[in-house]
Amino acid sequence: MSQPCVNIGMVGHVDHGKTTLVRALSGVWTDTHSEEVKRGISIRLGYADSPFMKCPKCPEPQCYTVEKTCPNCGETTEEHRTVSFVDAPGHETLMATMLSGAAIMDGAVLVIAANEDCPQPQTKEHLMALDIIGIENIVIVQNKIDLVSRERLIEHYHQIKEFVKGTVAENAPIIPISAQQNINIDILIDALETQIPTPVHKIDKPASMLIARSFDINKPGASIDEIRGGVIGGTLTEGVLHPGDELEIRPGIKVTTEGTTRWIPILTTVSSIFAGATKVEEATPGGLLAVGTYLDPTLTKGDSLTGQMAGAPGTLPETRHQFVMELHLLERVVGVTREEKINEIKTSEPLMLNIGTATTVGVVTSARKNEAQVALKRPISAAVGSRVAISRRIDSRWRLIGVGVIKS
Ligand code: GDP
Ligand code: MG
Repeated sequence: MSQPCVNIGMVGHVDHGKTTLVRALSGVWTDTHSEEVKRGISIRLGYADSPFMKCPKCPEPQCYTVEKTCPNCGETTEEHRTVSFVDAPGHETLMATMLSGAAIMDGAVLVIAANEDCPQPQTKEHLMALDIIGIENIVIVQNKIDLVSRERLIEHYHQIKEFVKGTVAENAPIIPISAQQNINIDILIDALETQIPTPVHKIDKPASMLIARSFDINKPGASIDEIRGGVIGGTLTEGVLHPGDELEIRPGIKVTTEGTTRWIPILTTVSSIFAGATKVEEATPGGLLAVGTYLDPTLTKGDSLTGQMAGAPGTLPETRHQFVMELHLLERVVGVTREEKINEIKTSEPLMLNIGTATTVGVVTSARKNEAQVALKRPISAAVGSRVAISRRIDSRWRLIGVGVIKS
């Protein structure tokens, strides 16, 4: 399998078939965490890589498959391009996870089940999030077509058309599929090929990586000489990375000495890089990577570095404990049955802020109509111009209310 070159997100309402579709496209079932298995829903971000294969003999779209032999003519298929899927949770309480996943998506598949009316609350909230984060390459799938009549499917199609009117997904193709029965997967791959192109990557810049996961991969009780260093997972947005390269991680670790707390960047060296299951000697942007380091694995355990940045030492954006952002608030709250009006941001209110893969709470220290200053509970590494997805607590849930742009 070649290195994945593009990240495609799976978004949409809970139970509409995102995880099933990732499996249909990659063979990987991403709900593996014990609580996910128990509750039957995705809780963390799931990842899976898939080489899209192309039959040299069949015409488009029938030529596309994920199989090694063509399901139409039996010919041996050829590797076309490898994509990484980011499987986002669709439950309303897991928007922060969805938003940090959206930060690493180059495009997204909005999964909408045909056996329910459209839009369901998180169908709407996820589309809004794509819009806010600036993800424009979207393919819509009408899933579970095996459960509905032709008439219902057409009615559902019109519901989708009405729902996406005036949004980033207005002109997105709508592909009827069954993820569970493998129906129209070739047509979907064809749509992904044209709608979500491989981005042009800036490989001549210093390496810069958004960390989406971090792990301790050692088994309990491993002996000292078996212990492997901490692993970070995420995507390179710029530059290239090799084993042996030096790496800085920001904001790094929290250190408290004599009552004062500081965040100190971590310096380490890359020990190995995996793109999917493949060990690589050079990682390029696009696709998901697992980067081995010489760090003490307790530093990377249990996603503790999620939301941080990694890259060439001395080149990462500064660590911010506060910032001023320009505000663009939505008109109404989405993702709830009662869509109330969004009021202006007020001084001293807490906001949930998603910047890149980071989630932090910021308390508003001053607010004007189009601008707010926030003091962060947890610092971030982010450049001026970065987008901020802003959520407010409404009826005990964080609800997306708008987007900010860091000014200073
Ligand atoms: P997610 O919450 O969006 O990730 O949804 P899942 O992939 O976990 O699927 C939710 C349920 O719908 C599971 O029981 C799946 O087996 C079922 N499902 C998914 N896709 C299809 C489909 O195309 N047809 C049918 N009949 N069931 C499906
Ligand atoms: Mg799922």
